[in-house]
Amino acid sequence: MHISELDVTNLERGRKDACWLDVSPRVEGGHWQLPLLTVTGSQPGPTLVVFAGIHGDEYEGVEAIPRIAEQVDPAHLHGTLLMVPVCNMAAYATATRNSPIDGLNLARVFPGSETGTLTQCIAHWLTLKFISAADFFIDLHSAGVVGDIPTLAGYLHSDEDVGQRSLAAARIFGAPVLWGHPPPVPPGRTISTAIDLGVPCLYTEAAGAGRAHPEDVDCFTRGVLNVMHHLDMLTGDPAAVPPPQHLVGDGNMDEVMSAPFAGYFRPHVELLQEVKTGQLVGTVHDPLGSVLAELHAERDGIVIMRRGVHRVHSGDGLIHLTNRADE
Ligand SMILES: [Zn+2]
Repeated sequence: MHISELDVTNLERGRKDACWLDVSPRVEGGHWQLPLLTVTGSQPGPTLVVFAGIHGDEYEGVEAIPRIAEQVDPAHLHGTLLMVPVCNMAAYATATRNSPIDGLNLARVFPGSETGTLTQCIAHWLTLKFISAADFFIDLHSAGVVGDIPTLAGYLHSDEDVGQRSLAAARIFGAPVLWGHPPPVPPGRTISTAIDLGVPCLYTEAAGAGRAHPEDVDCFTRGVLNVMHHLDMLTGDPAAVPPPQHLVGDGNMDEVMSAPFAGYFRPHVELLQEVKTGQLVGTVHDPLGSVLAELHAERDGIVIMRRGVHRVHSGDGLIHLTNRADE
């Protein structure tokens, strides 16, 4: 079926289904497709949309989504669960962050364009058919191959209703770190599009580095089920979760402390470490061992991301600092 024919508001109740949706023709024949897992409750209720594989080198959500589908019984579900385990199949096939077809980052082109390149077209259909149909939206990411980020739930840090509902669900999700982003969320993301549509949402990060740590897959699986309890899609209480470390700051990883020169990067700080202005946080070396650059913290903060791959090119993001939330 072509995705244009999908009507998620009119699915048969009380079922669990899996299918492939055609999105755009492939040059060698056939179509680029999106895999879709649906669970429709025997009772009406909210629609929860969950994405993974927006970046092709992040695996935790890809593994968690089928597990979540397995654990939800349509007979006990109120509402509809719509999950796309691999949103960017072309990037998944090459295990890269961006699409090998048009070079684009799917997380920078939302809400997309029906007549655009493959990545823009995927964003268009994901927005039209899923995000705009959601009562709540979850996007499962991790640091991918080059970064290192603590396991966290990110949300819109705002007093507006959409922000407060995002925060409440992000707390219940149960990740060890909660990271709020004051508006505006930079454009092009799934969550910026969800917020523009008034859909409360959260996203995740985790260590990544090309593999899915079992504890992160467990965290994401339990997290989505917890949000389903929170939304009254499932009866009973969410699993009890320890209070998270609560951080707030700009989540824009496109603008972080970056390498002034190409070379070998050695971080001098750990994730979640508190650093002071002027503190040495990393060095860039040449192959003979000479220090080409020292990176010093430009302000006080907490390390929320550090680069995992040592080889760096000029301009590559190395370290990102954030702040503790006032609570
Ligand atoms: Zn990602």
